[in-house]
Amino acid sequence: MSASSPAPEPAGPEETAGPVPLVLASPPAASPAPASPAPASPRPAGGRGRPPRHLADLPLAGRRAVVAGLGQPPFRASQLSRHFFGRYTDRPEEMSDLPLAARDPLAQALLPRLLTSERELACDGGTTRKTLWRTFDGALVESVLMRYPDRVTMCVSSQAGCGMACPFCATGQAGLTRNLSAAEIVAQVVAGARMLADGQIPGGTGRVSNVVFMGMGEPLANYASVLAAVRRLTEPVPEGMGISRRSVTISTVGLVPAIERLAAERLSVTLAVSLHAPDDELRDTLVPVNRRWKVAEVLDAAWGYAATTGRRVSIEYALIRDINDHAWRADELGSLLAGRLAHVNLIPLNPTPGSKWTASRPAAQREFVRRLEAHGVPVTVRDTRGREIDGACGQLAASASAPASTSSSSSSAGR
Ligand code: SAH
Repeated sequence: MSASSPAPEPAGPEETAGPVPLVLASPPAASPAPASPAPASPRPAGGRGRPPRHLADLPLAGRRAVVAGLGQPPFRASQLSRHFFGRYTDRPEEMSDLPLAARDPLAQALLPRLLTSERELACDGGTTRKTLWRTFDGALVESVLMRYPDRVTMCVSSQAGCGMACPFCATGQAGLTRNLSAAEIVAQVVAGARMLADGQIPGGTGRVSNVVFMGMGEPLANYASVLAAVRRLTEPVPEGMGISRRSVTISTVGLVPAIERLAAERLSVTLAVSLHAPDDELRDTLVPVNRRWKVAEVLDAAWGYAATTGRRVSIEYALIRDINDHAWRADELGSLLAGRLAHVNLIPLNPTPGSKWTASRPAAQREFVRRLEAHGVPVTVRDTRGREIDGACGQLAASASAPASTSSSSSSAGR
């Protein structure tokens, strides 16, 4: 997600052809849809409940146990896992190495379709793709694929909605609907991998190289599922997708006990801390959880994470005009971070609809960067990929219930 400014000039927004059914393993145009994507495991009849069990929720041993419970040889768990994590398919008819009679029961038990593509948006000449997903119980979440010359980053959601209530973030306004399961998180990445493998993204076939937990939700408030998802994403096929741990970034408002717990896992994923203010007085309002864990405690936890993992921590700072972009705040931030294993990622604010706040003036942004650098702190300014398709922060999900109107391309949240 982070790149040096200036942001590339994006192509105009475009809605990709029609509603895309079931992006995860969507069939080639001609092939008939499965009679009915059979309900994979008991689903609650209305109301919210747990998503159906999926192989990406389980370590390989757990998948073997499920397979054995169906009277199948346990190695079928690896075969199914290879289809999902290596070939990005959940369609029984594409699993020619499985006996015909076993395909449907196995797929129903371990590969239920968790996410349905509700809407697809593209910009940057098709290299930024945003998907709005509907979950089994009707919750809406979104993911964004961003292809750069040297990498492909998937920005994923960890929760439907968010309970952290940061006033500048669109997702924060609506509150928390529910946690996503590990498989619901992984399925977003697999869907992106499938698009790339199918050649749907300009630039030829490719792989997902990076995953950032910067979509909807607070990942460390959904700790167990996020951790399981990280394991699935980073373990080699057939256990998981084989993405490098260092290429996975978990972004948090600063839940101190969870940061400490994450450090103890020694997973060496990248930690990003959404600081947004160097002083408690302002941070109490911009990131309300700061009333519980103060700037000093959050940074202590971050330095603990850096010490344990050897990984440089990313300090996220949305620059908001006349709110947190003062030169003195840059100096204060610089002195907090000087000499630490950290770099600052400045995010020009993407105003949410109705917000009185906007991005900093260019001169203020330049001065902010200059002062941080004067303290010896490395700084990048994030590009604003996907701005015109509401590239982040729950805007698409938030607007989905309203009649589809993609014309208001100037209003966008995003990172
Ligand atoms: N809950 C996590 C991850 C979600 S958002 C966290 O807070 O870190 C990822 C980043 O986008 C966070 O740094 C968040 O503060 C930032 N962000 C949210 N809304 C934004 C907006 N309107 N403009 C710019 N950045 C925003």
